[in-house]
Amino acid sequence: MSTDKAKRRPQPGSGARIATSASTTIQSAPRTRPSLAPASVFGPTGRRRFWWYTYRCRTCGAYQFASAKTLDAVTGLRRAGCGHEVSVMIARTYGAAA
Ligand SMILES: [Zn+2]
Repeated sequence: MSTDKAKRRPQPGSGARIATSASTTIQSAPRTRPSLAPASVFGPTGRRRFWWYTYRCRTCGAYQFASAKTLDAVTGLRRAGCGHEVSVMIARTYGAAA
């Protein structure tokens, strides 16, 4: 019996979807979406080889300070020091020679 496999397969036909315009409530997602955190990034200067960046957690308001090896590594999802998931985006860049 391999009914479990058939159940997991995504249904190809989505035309028969029940759409009730009356209920606008989409299934409440238990997953907390990481909040966007605009970061100020400080480029490597002198002996400093890392990119330092600071941002504020929008969930609890705590300021975070972190470093990354590359500018690309600054952006992305990460767990802030306060324990919240944040989506870091570069808002400002300082001291980088581009
Ligand atoms: Zn937080």
